[in-house]
Amino acid sequence: MSIHLQHLESELEENTRRRGYDFYCEGRVRSVFNINGIEWMAVVQGYDDHVVELRITNDTVMHYACNCNDEEDPCKHVAAVLYYIRKESHKQKRNDPSGYDEMKEEISYLPPHVLRYLILKYAAQSKDFRTFLGEYFNGDTRK
Ligand SMILES: [Zn+2]
Repeated sequence: MSIHLQHLESELEENTRRRGYDFYCEGRVRSVFNINGIEWMAVVQGYDDHVVELRITNDTVMHYACNCNDEEDPCKHVAAVLYYIRKESHKQKRNDPSGYDEMKEEISYLPPHVLRYLILKYAAQSKDFRTFLGEYFNGDTRK
């Protein structure tokens, strides 16, 4: 199924759309990250936190994934992030994606204690990263 950012109202199932929009309005979409202008990652806070990955070209969703077990496809977490991106994407900064794909592959094999160490080390060095983490822990990224 192809989803167009400007047609969420007609292309998402009613219940998914409504719950996704509520999640967006409640500020549950956190830590939105645009990787290379096309790929996006975000955390959506619910009973559990879920990680949503999206690939969007020309406002068309080419790929989506969420780590939840909801039966809806796409789920409300994906819907929430789509609402976020449609309304807020102009605020996202582009960055240089060189080397990112290789790193993503390697990071997927790291054990949790190593990830924790790397996050703490980077947080100690970078105010931007602490701000980014702060948005995940308390903030509302819509502000
Ligand atoms: Zn989900």
